Amino acid sequence: VAEPGWVDVERYLTDVVVRPDPAHKRALASAVEAGMPAIEVAPNAGKLLRMLVQMSGARRVLEIGTLAGFSSMWMAQGLPDDGRLVTCEFLQKHADVARANLDAAGVGHKVDIRVGAALDTLPTLAGQESFDFVFIDADKENDSNYLDWAIRLGRPGTVIVVDNVIWDGAILEPERDQVNAPGIIKMLDMMGQDPRLDATAIQTVGSKGWDGFAIARVR
Ligand code: SAM
Repeated sequence: VAEPGWVDVERYLTDVVVRPDPAHKRALASAVEAGMPAIEVAPNAGKLLRMLVQMSGARRVLEIGTLAGFSSMWMAQGLPDDGRLVTCEFLQKHADVARANLDAAGVGHKVDIRVGAALDTLPTLAGQESFDFVFIDADKENDSNYLDWAIRLGRPGTVIVVDNVIWDGAILEPERDQVNAPGIIKMLDMMGQDPRLDATAIQTVGSKGWDGFAIARVR
């Protein structure tokens, strides 16, 4: 199917409205140089995350899936100077690239990168001050586990955003991707049915293909 100008429109909106700063552009270039996959959020989504952090008045943000720190950078910019972003990343190499990018952007002092499997890291965060905002963007197989942890580490009013919830439409044809699609579907079911949550989901098109995000508020 021909894509009707989605990527050009995204580029236009990014240039005219989003206006990423040089640190964002350097972070994207560093990920390419390090041979990392270009699976970070698009700039317009990154800025949405920053604005949601600001609009929710968040002081403590949790991220699952750091990569080169692109989404971390946007969210950290939305935090007050004494705010905190804890971001979980499996690969040391990704964490190292992210650390350099976040320091270069002047937000490194707000960011704590925890290396390891997120399901091992998340229990160590229990008993601390609750998180006000959570962004889930790692291995989709574990989306529902991460959503459960986000609720447990949050409080009433915590905002939770989960990326990649459409997966090129595979949520309706899970046989196309038997690893990721079932994890996304399970998480979406939980978004709709868990009494602890109020949620919606939005599909998007653009440089990242046909995808979308879900957003929930802890009741
Ligand atoms: N949020 C990033 C952004 O938009 O800039 C993109 C994150 S990328 C889609 C997913 C990241 O999750 C990768 O860096 C991958 O190494 C990491 N990851 C995968 N499985 C993980 C796990 N079990 N625990 C923690 N991180 C994991």
